[in-house]
Amino acid sequence: MANTRTSFPGQWNTFHANGPFPLRMLLDTRLEPKADMPSPFARYNDAALEIQRLLQESLNSNERFRAYGSGWSLNNIAHQQDRMHFNQRLNLKFAIAQTQMHANTAHTDGSLFFFQCGNVIKEVSEFARANGRSISASGASNGQTIAGAISTGVHGAALDFGAVQDMVVGLNLIIGPRPEDNVYLESEHAPALSDAFANTINARVIRNEGLFRSALVGLGAFGFVHGVAIATEERFLLKRYIRKINKTDALQLGETLDFANARFTLPEELDANGKGDRPYHYKLLINPYNAAEDYVIELMYRKPYRNGYPNPLPRVRQFLYRDVPTWIGWFAARHDRHIPRLLELMKGEIFPQDEPDVEGTIGELFWDSNFAGPAFACSVAVDHRDMGRALDLMIATLNTVGPIPGAIGVRFVKGTKATLGFSRFAHTCIIEVDGVQWPTDLGLVSLEEFNRQLDLAFMNAGIPYTHHWGKNAAWGLPGLVDHMYGNADDEWKNHRSALLTREMADLFSNDFLDTVRLSDYRVASDPGLVADRGVAGGGV
Ligand SMILES: Cc1cc2nc3c(=O)[nH]c(=O)nc-3n(C[C@H](O)[C@H](O)[C@H](O)COP(=O)(O)OP(=O)(O)OC[C@H]3O[C@@H](n4cnc5c(N)ncnc54)[C@H](O)[C@@H]3O)c2cc1C
Repeated sequence: MANTRTSFPGQWNTFHANGPFPLRMLLDTRLEPKADMPSPFARYNDAALEIQRLLQESLNSNERFRAYGSGWSLNNIAHQQDRMHFNQRLNLKFAIAQTQMHANTAHTDGSLFFFQCGNVIKEVSEFARANGRSISASGASNGQTIAGAISTGVHGAALDFGAVQDMVVGLNLIIGPRPEDNVYLESEHAPALSDAFANTINARVIRNEGLFRSALVGLGAFGFVHGVAIATEERFLLKRYIRKINKTDALQLGETLDFANARFTLPEELDANGKGDRPYHYKLLINPYNAAEDYVIELMYRKPYRNGYPNPLPRVRQFLYRDVPTWIGWFAARHDRHIPRLLELMKGEIFPQDEPDVEGTIGELFWDSNFAGPAFACSVAVDHRDMGRALDLMIATLNTVGPIPGAIGVRFVKGTKATLGFSRFAHTCIIEVDGVQWPTDLGLVSLEEFNRQLDLAFMNAGIPYTHHWGKNAAWGLPGLVDHMYGNADDEWKNHRSALLTREMADLFSNDFLDTVRLSDYRVASDPGLVADRGVAGGGV
């Protein structure tokens, strides 16, 4: 039997110390050892029963239950004060055989994988690679669990692909303690796995596009995500370039995403007509406190996979411009995290260092994060055509309401299919401020007040926007989620209320959900919202 250790730590914190938050009970489930239960599916199903037992215990105690992954979210979305479950040890991995695929699937043999929730992105990527495949998207680094990443909508800068949840083609949710509460969910329009596969994991099948899209970015509130089916692609390499660019050219690229006709081109990446090729990835790093300093850009271009390419990891380990947290962590450490000095230095040039061009797989280039310590992060997503005014607003807010010790990152990603995915614009531009936490006695604005002013500025400017669910924002502003999502939050709540019983919906809620008013339960919701609309599909 899978075994759960229980402890009573009193408090819990995120990876970047955004708490501490009170916690009564911490649950940590380990799989039955392979030696005692050789079949991976047997161990997976055994873990499911253990999770259901834990859910029943929570119900009996009238307490809430929240799963968490790596604790990499920088707010209280992963926190619940009654019971929290640590998932990282639930990391079984399965390559899907053709006989386990739905008869009508469009996916090719060998392209689908099934991961238990606690696999971190690094494991997902390496397992795909060991099977000759590549994941399609990653965050800037790789330590999030697959379930945690999709639950907040983690993104990188995959211009024409999307966010991590956009790789997902099926979800195994545990929505309560009864046998029928083990559900395998996918779209009826894009079936992936067979009913026989669902039977293997003792799950009842629901093929329903609307429900699937709502559950995909489920904020920890759509039940326990036990397993995730993902689609991969042929392995490929990425060629990475770091360059300096002026603001005007960076804006032209971002607002048009037209790399063929832009002023800025990379001589190494031109087509036969001398036009710029379209990159896989486009990212900017910006010093908000020195308008004269050029921006750092990171561009990555897809290349066919070839054996024997030089090992990029020695260089990757030295990357400074991997992401804003890495850069700011390095910068802060160099100056003893002395905040007044950091802010003074940021009035000058802070991006001195170049990085050599390098080639590697997704898993190699989006490598381990080496920045620990108290940090904050605020991300605003807008339509890429609004990039210029949104960026100006962010910089103005940092300079007038701030300063605060952080730098700006800008990334571009294709819009997501998830109902509450925050990268919801057809081509989304994400503008983030990442930095180190600061003491209250420096006379600087508080993070809470900065976030409030930032939201007010975006609302007043009338720029449609959303926030990353796993980051800092003025989440308590009345009507914020309605403002950002229009009717999409109602659709999400309707699906959630139709799928979960009222008591389970409350069990899977937390303070964050209460604050943003997403824990509301809709009684008498339409059963059609959770109907299986698909064609039953045996193996191919
Ligand atoms: C160093 C660093 C780099 C980052 N880089 C990026 C980036 O490049 N792009 C980006 O978009 N974000 C980034 N983030 C933010 C972070 O990746 C996300 O917030 C992500 O959700 C964290 O994943 P996690 O596994 O730590 O999940 P957690 O933070 O532990 O949990 C996130 C949510 O998932 C829920 N959850 C977790 N597991 C389950 C489960 N099995 N069932 C149901 N719910 C579950 C939790 O309840 C919570 O609501 C970064 C954060 C850090 C610290």
